[in-house]
Amino acid sequence: MPEIKTRIEKIYAQVIQRNPGESEFHQAVKEVVDTLAPVLHKHPEYAEHKIIERICEPERQIIFRVPWQDDRGEVQINRGFRVGFNSALGPYKGGLRFHPSVYLGIIKFLGFEQIFKNAVTGMPIGGAKGGADFDPKGRSDAEVMRFCQSFMTELYRHLGEFTDVPAGDIGVGAREIGYLFGQYKRITNRYESGVITGKSPKWGGALVRKEATGYGAVFFAEQMLKARGDSLDGKTCVVSGSGNVAIYAIEKLQALGARVVACSDSDGVIHHARGLDLPLIKQLKEVERRRIRDYAQVHRDAQYLERGNLWHIACQVALPGATQNELDEASARRLVANGCIAVSEGANMPTTPGGIRVFEEAGVAFGPGKAANAGGVATSALEMQQNASRDAWTFEYSEQRLQEIMINIHRTCHETAAEFGSPGNYIIGANIVGFRRVADAMLAFGVI
Ligand code: NDP
Repeated sequence: MPEIKTRIEKIYAQVIQRNPGESEFHQAVKEVVDTLAPVLHKHPEYAEHKIIERICEPERQIIFRVPWQDDRGEVQINRGFRVGFNSALGPYKGGLRFHPSVYLGIIKFLGFEQIFKNAVTGMPIGGAKGGADFDPKGRSDAEVMRFCQSFMTELYRHLGEFTDVPAGDIGVGAREIGYLFGQYKRITNRYESGVITGKSPKWGGALVRKEATGYGAVFFAEQMLKARGDSLDGKTCVVSGSGNVAIYAIEKLQALGARVVACSDSDGVIHHARGLDLPLIKQLKEVERRRIRDYAQVHRDAQYLERGNLWHIACQVALPGATQNELDEASARRLVANGCIAVSEGANMPTTPGGIRVFEEAGVAFGPGKAANAGGVATSALEMQQNASRDAWTFEYSEQRLQEIMINIHRTCHETAAEFGSPGNYIIGANIVGFRRVADAMLAFGVI
């Protein structure tokens, strides 16, 4: 396949040249295209119709000014983004991230990954992502509300339940979704529940959406271990972050008999060897919006490591649940040396390419975000289904659906990896499953 490999290298070089300075986007593209040679070999029609080249170019990119006034009356200006990457399988779908590090390259990496993740779920949703370089940390509710209203005042014209359906991500939770939807409803004069997901169940949201990404990443870890004749019961685990994904990953790990000994935020790490007190973490992070260091004020036997490296804490299962490139090669080596046997990515692209290589060489079961954290968006699609039929499912039924979806995703990725000669490699499995589904739809639509 040397000529196919050369072709792929050329496509990647072109992506770098056309999108200068967007290193996270380059990384996300490389991670996918590097696994596609066997698919092009089997399906020359994908190359003939330039499917990879087309997938790497977003269908649309919107960048806009978000002016707002802070509590002192000072005018603030942020930059808003929405990238509709691919709508071959359904309306654009993907979260909004509010974080000071946001720029076009971050939104494009997330949007690109979202195409394949959404396809892997088997649900009718395209890939997109958006956000702003706004930092909600330390802002009052009124400031967050004014920011969200200004953001939606521009974004609303690009949305719609059949066009583009955002959700939350870092810095965007139920509070922000409420303000965003409120402004959408006010401007459009439509109570269009299906235009945004991650809503509170009090007004059109789905039960289990809040828990879905964390629970799903744990269900994926459970399946990977099961495939090796093992289970989560009694395992020592660490989870990075202490936001939406991390909290519900910890909850499900504990429910399945694992002991979670550490979590973090961007300031530091909490290590509690006898097991984390989850109700306290929820109170600190979800209710009081405080820092994780305050955990150690309540539990004197817990250790707070300011700027510490969570991955230095010994565990058998690691669940990165904070942000991109948080787990590098050196940390991966440390995890392996300490006996880690499975990694399930709750966050998007948390492991660097060097880190992934270490896990592959050590035979660690590695669940890439595109598969392992797809439970969140899958449950968003279930929220859209419930909104469309004006129905509301029970928690038990919704969780059962989520679990079935994760079992299915695991099975198809596992089988596809084996079909393409890389048994046990979930990265190859997820990329190929997602790519084939999108590629077949694109072929059917002709050159658009
Ligand atoms: P939250 O904002 O709820 O929590 C993010 C957590 O990660 C916080 O503890 C935060 O700490 C920490 N964090 C964020 N940025 C950094 C950073 N640069 N360095 C260190 N720590 C950081 O976000 P979510 O839990 O929703 O998202 C976490 C990850 O999961 C992201 O990669 C997101 O893209 C991914 N994801 C989320 C889904 C969802 O449904 N929410 C779905 C699929 C993937 P601090 O408070 O100090 O900033």
